[in-house]
Amino acid sequence: MARLVMKFGGTSVGDIERIRNVAAHVKREVDAGHQVAVVVSAMSGETNRLVGLTRDVSPLHDAREYDVVVSAGEQISVGLLALALQDVGVAARSWLGWQIKVETSDVHGAARILDIHADGLEAQLEEGRVAVIAGFQGISSAGRITTLGRGGSDTSAVAIAAALKADRCDIYTDVDGVYTTDPRVVSQATKLARISYEEMLEMASLGAKVLQTRSVELAMAHNVRLQVRSSFDAADSAFPEDGIVGTLICNEDEIMEQEIVSGIAYAPNEAKVTLLQVADKPGVAAEIFGPLADAAVNVDMIVQNMSADGKTTDVTFTVSSDELERALAVIEGLKGKVEFANLQAVPEMAKISVVGVGMRSHAGVAQKMFKELAEKGINIHVISTSEIKVSVLIDSDYAELAVRALHAAYGLDDETIDT
Ligand code: ASP
Ligand code: MG
Repeated sequence: MARLVMKFGGTSVGDIERIRNVAAHVKREVDAGHQVAVVVSAMSGETNRLVGLTRDVSPLHDAREYDVVVSAGEQISVGLLALALQDVGVAARSWLGWQIKVETSDVHGAARILDIHADGLEAQLEEGRVAVIAGFQGISSAGRITTLGRGGSDTSAVAIAAALKADRCDIYTDVDGVYTTDPRVVSQATKLARISYEEMLEMASLGAKVLQTRSVELAMAHNVRLQVRSSFDAADSAFPEDGIVGTLICNEDEIMEQEIVSGIAYAPNEAKVTLLQVADKPGVAAEIFGPLADAAVNVDMIVQNMSADGKTTDVTFTVSSDELERALAVIEGLKGKVEFANLQAVPEMAKISVVGVGMRSHAGVAQKMFKELAEKGINIHVISTSEIKVSVLIDSDYAELAVRALHAAYGLDDETIDT
């Protein structure tokens, strides 16, 4: 017997038929003898509709009342799922954030979970009842309803799993797992059986969006084993004894034979900004990047170089394309404060990253990447590395070619698929 948290997103509970399908997935686990807590989102489109209503009433709304409204979608889906479970003979009860209680900070609309009092839930599970829990919501110390920020129900599920010391947290979604790269770009991409938390964080923040990054960070901090799997699989299809049919995101030591490279991540919409001949003296980087941070521009790669005269340096950084305009406005505003000769911006760039914990103990991973790109005639603009990844910035025209070439070069192509 195991204790499981099962999480279903908006599309999985999008209509009554799908809610019945979710109930069938839950019933399967209950029939197998497991204790089950289910976390659900609002029915698809519902949260957007509620956000729209608050905007229609008042664009400068009171965030406390915004949370009262937008948290309501989850209240409907937990009630419906509890009913659907009872309908197929599974004892179930719904739980809202305040009933559990999920204590959060009082930053309405973007609250952080502080603590979860899971005693009541645990008692229910031990009595053999399924707890159907509203994701996305909690309660502040002032007793007001809060929400965690859009997409927050992944984080709710992981936090509940940590509080219940669950054996696993299964995230049911519209894809069947985490792939070695985007299958829309590389048809030979393969589903990973397992991936470590760290690699998943790199893959997710680099553009392979399956799970909210915040939920993976939380899972890593609390050692919650996470599985990504599809909710569209037939609920009664045969599955292996360990319950893993999608991708398990877990600790490195649970992965027996670690590949050197696990995947190729791809961020298509990047922009490069270069300040030429910036005065080379202490404090300049802070003068440039401080105001960018204050303007909430998310700077990714940064490179600083000496220029020939030794008195000035060139500074290059990248931002996502939709933040380029804001970044340039900030830099323009620095004129007079920061000395530089010229400002250049290249909007259409892509960042390609090779990710794998095996890099820690293997040399030559970066070299292989550079060689492969060179052979394809692809110019590298910026390089950055961490312990478990190597990233390059290239012209976006070559992005898909680069991803395909690297996927093959690191032996990730599925050999069983004809091209
Ligand atoms: N229903 C919320 C949203 O749409 C939370 C979630 O789906 O994760 O943002
Ligand atoms: Mg979601």
